[in-house]
Amino acid sequence: MTTQTVLVVNSGSSSIKYQLVELGTGAAVASGVVERIGEPTGSLRHVHGGTTTERELHIPDHGEGLRRVLSLFEVAGPDLAEANVVAVGHRVVQGGMAFDGPVLVDAEVERKIDELSALAPLHNPANLTGIRVGRALLPDVPHVAVFDTAFFHHLPAAAATYAIDREVAATYKVRRYGAHGTSHQFVSRGVAEFLGRDLATTRTIVLHLGNGASVSAVDGGHAVDTSMGLTPLEGLVMGTRTGDIDPAVVFHLSRNAGMSIDEIDDLLNRRSGLKGLTGHNDLREVHDLVESGDEDARLAVDVYTRRIKKYIGSYAAVMGGVDVIAFTAGVGENDDIVRARSLEGLQGFGIEIDLERNAGRKKEPTVISTEASATTVVVYPTNEELAIARQALDVVRDR
Ligand code: AMP
Repeated sequence: MTTQTVLVVNSGSSSIKYQLVELGTGAAVASGVVERIGEPTGSLRHVHGGTTTERELHIPDHGEGLRRVLSLFEVAGPDLAEANVVAVGHRVVQGGMAFDGPVLVDAEVERKIDELSALAPLHNPANLTGIRVGRALLPDVPHVAVFDTAFFHHLPAAAATYAIDREVAATYKVRRYGAHGTSHQFVSRGVAEFLGRDLATTRTIVLHLGNGASVSAVDGGHAVDTSMGLTPLEGLVMGTRTGDIDPAVVFHLSRNAGMSIDEIDDLLNRRSGLKGLTGHNDLREVHDLVESGDEDARLAVDVYTRRIKKYIGSYAAVMGGVDVIAFTAGVGENDDIVRARSLEGLQGFGIEIDLERNAGRKKEPTVISTEASATTVVVYPTNEELAIARQALDVVRDR
């Protein structure tokens, strides 16, 4: 292999996902996942050259998980020593106000990521563990941290500020940080290029609809608003998260249901959204229930798509109009019902999709609006691993 590659690592609390990305073609040369780290039986899956290698075994910690991944590269290929790995790119969820772009990891960067754990207690410690074991096992390759919040670092103050006591907000760093920034940046830029539009004069709404879901308003290439806030709980209805809710629901449940803060946290983050409304977090199953006449599922799709529509309206208002709407991620790329329902009845706002163009799953960028639609609606597949790989390359190239 002569072209350069980046090993992209996404380390979660009990998992490590990875992809070896070839920079020239953007292709994933190999990919895999380690799951159930710390549990009695863990699993590994490694895919390369059309072959999947799987293992089931106890994986006590992330260090052992990554060691196993490196030995899978040796056994199942490709040989990392010959893959011209120019960097390891680590996804980090919360960069706070400390990071507005990707950085080369050193001890100081590790310390700051650790410090930001208070804002992302589920994610940053796991991301940092991945970085530490990665640096220990691959010491000769530069490691780059790529932050999910960076694209939203320069949000206008009016978008980032919560209307609460200023001193409390400042002391506890309460503001809107956003998330999925790598995807919003990748898609907003990519879609402008795909349409042959000048990014500087394009107003785009990006709908990243996966199991987690968020929407951003991007004006001239800059994020001017986004739906996720202090944490990824705010905004759209998601697989298991409620999205926007009156904060008084928390007081109500605490005072009247006797629920603890941890129980309410669990309720709103893991037992709400589509899961709370239907028992299923996957929209495919929700649609099946609708087909079988399930009224709860029908309501769930109504709640889900109405929230998206409300955000489209408010972000179009914030930007004084919208030139492009881009759907991306698992639901955005695959679910034609959600796309159609979210944009239903918006002809008066110059937004009209062509139901034939919209039909089915989209693996390639596809325009789904009618010729008459003033706003161009596009399905644009995201590729967060490629985006992280490119950002990591930018950092090591500039050294
Ligand atoms: P992501 O987090 O981007 O991987 O998206 C995962 C979600 O995408 C799943 O929970 C499903 O709700 C949704 N999804 C994936 N494939 C399809 C499909 N073919 N049709 C509808 N929804 C899908």
